[in-house]
Amino acid sequence: MPQPLPAPGKTSAPVRVALKTDIVVIGAGQAGLSAAYHLQRQGLKPGKDFRILDQSPEPGGAWQFRWPSLTLSTVNRIHDLPGMAFSDSLETDAPLVPAREAVPTYFAAYERAFGLAVLRPARVSAVADRGQRLRVETSRGAFSTRGLINATGTWEKPFIPVYPGAETFRGKTLHTKDYHSASDFAGQHVVIVGGGISAIQLLDEISRVTTTTWVTRRPPAFRSGPFDEDWGRKAVAIVDERVRKGLEPNSVVSVTGLPVTPAIEAMRARGVLERQEMFAEITETGVRWADGREQRADVILWCTGFRGALDHLAPLNLREPTGGITVTGRLATQVAKDPRIHLVGYGPSASTIGANRAGAAAARELMDTLGLGENVGV
Ligand code: FAD
Repeated sequence: MPQPLPAPGKTSAPVRVALKTDIVVIGAGQAGLSAAYHLQRQGLKPGKDFRILDQSPEPGGAWQFRWPSLTLSTVNRIHDLPGMAFSDSLETDAPLVPAREAVPTYFAAYERAFGLAVLRPARVSAVADRGQRLRVETSRGAFSTRGLINATGTWEKPFIPVYPGAETFRGKTLHTKDYHSASDFAGQHVVIVGGGISAIQLLDEISRVTTTTWVTRRPPAFRSGPFDEDWGRKAVAIVDERVRKGLEPNSVVSVTGLPVTPAIEAMRARGVLERQEMFAEITETGVRWADGREQRADVILWCTGFRGALDHLAPLNLREPTGGITVTGRLATQVAKDPRIHLVGYGPSASTIGANRAGAAAARELMDTLGLGENVGV
């Protein structure tokens, strides 16, 4: 349809000139930094041939926002970024250092060491298809790029399921993302929803200062034995298969189960691991089960996970009717509908080790797709 001409004396909104580059990496967490490292290793210059954009104020990816009691001893394991060991950035090997301090310190040192020149804060609001190029709209101007590595993680997209009556609840509704400290809940009754590692960790902390009710949709899948490589590989294979079919990635815990740690044994002994089935509705004062039982609550804390933070890609229509984005390539990072786009830290690569590997695969495959490999560095 022809656009109406501007009224006499008025001009249409100016189109912002976009800065040209070959590849834009969105996000400077584990996945984005790994991709950037490999792009650079293959001869592309950061800040020129490729740009890294991140909306957060500081280095550290989502780790900078995690709760203070999540320490190096309570995280599963933070894998080294390529080319520089995590331990090299730590002054002491102290397990009680909060991950929100240690990881950002590491990422900052990493960015400096490799001259990765991350533009921040730069929030990407939309990516549009402009034929040969993609236009990336950001809070710091527009970029025109030939390829895109999306590494925006999940932290910006907390998921809370819908239950009837939620809008009537007079207490506080929170998500894992909002959690700061158990002491915030002293004297209140907290209903904790979710069967994942975060739910268990927060239940452990909160139940030490106040009363709790723990609710999960399915009975928690505790499993003994170490979370070894074989277990990890099987879990990744399940998610890999889903995203290659265009399905939404499933939750981490549905794949890995919950390893029985000494902390979990101690919770059992304290009697706080009494799981209740999911309630049917939320009331003004708490929650109610299908059989009419009620539990008063001051706080409902949803530890119900996250989804991929991909809203800025909506104009590209990458989603399938099945809800997910079909991916292909060696490590399931390349978008089938548009091979110029890779998703890293998504689905099977949503862990620090997965993000690392996916960054390498995406960098290599994207450079091949764009025909960049043979010409750079000469
Ligand atoms: P992130 O670290 O989330 O980085 C994404 C970056 O993208 C952020 O810096 C963000 O600012 C930026 N961004 C997002 N949207 C935009 C936008 N529109 N424009 C510009 N920038 C944007 N994994 C492990 O392997 N071991 C663990 O012990 C572990 N513990 C975890 C504990 C918790 C509580 C959680 C929630 C996750 C944990 N994980 C763990 C998972 C792990 O954190 C992630 O898989 C991995 O760190 C994610 O890296 P990432 O680069 O994909 O994302």
